[in-house]
Amino acid sequence: MRKPFVAGNWKMHGSKASILSLVTGLNAQADQLGNVDVAVCPPAIYIDYVKRSLSSNAISVGAQNVAAEPVQGAFTGEISVEMLKDFACDYVILGHSERRAIYGETDAEVAQKVKVALTANITPILCVGETLEERESGVMESVIASQLDAVLDVVGIDSFADIVIAYEPIWAIGTGVTASPAQAQDVHEFIRGKLAGLNSAIAEKVIIQYGGSVKPDNAKELFGQADIDGGLIGGASLNADDFIAICKAA
Ligand code: PGA
Repeated sequence: MRKPFVAGNWKMHGSKASILSLVTGLNAQADQLGNVDVAVCPPAIYIDYVKRSLSSNAISVGAQNVAAEPVQGAFTGEISVEMLKDFACDYVILGHSERRAIYGETDAEVAQKVKVALTANITPILCVGETLEERESGVMESVIASQLDAVLDVVGIDSFADIVIAYEPIWAIGTGVTASPAQAQDVHEFIRGKLAGLNSAIAEKVIIQYGGSVKPDNAKELFGQADIDGGLIGGASLNADDFIAICKAA
């Protein structure tokens, strides 16, 4: 049995005041979480603040990005994997569709970042997913396969024992339109099947989160699907009650 994992992607939201109130809300309910791994991924500048404000070790902290360069140096504006390690980050979201679409991150760059994170023992949350146009034109599976292949080519299938995958259909992110549980399950099954073709034991173990407009009222049905092992939560992770409710549904 895979232990479900729910992560909150706070994106570029928050202030010291709003984050303290969010973390206070999480602290108050963290003892209700049960058998689920939970992490929150604040903007990098708040990682330490969140770490110090969290009173429960039931909630881990992750980053939303990392430099592709493995060591520190003259890379203005970047944050190295060793710096994330220094602040005890357990996870890093990589290849989020916003980074791919807005900042032009390529499959190859995402793969390099996955490699760098693994080297520092930080678990990458590798995001993959298709646009609506890709889904409707029938190339969804090949898009997702090539996003995975780029990483497989660089780190190999064995490394997927230490990688979390987040399937996030781009058309469902921040739109209020969720993939139906059956639509999401189909893609999760495809991803697991693809990995199983390379190593069935690893495919059986890999956590595949669903992301895209997960809310307390749709989480249970999504997480109830055979190949959905929790979620990557954007908007709803900014509300402590909603986020805890989603975690409890996993
Ligand atoms: P959403 O975002 O839950 O607000 O749709 C999910 C994500 O982008 O990770």
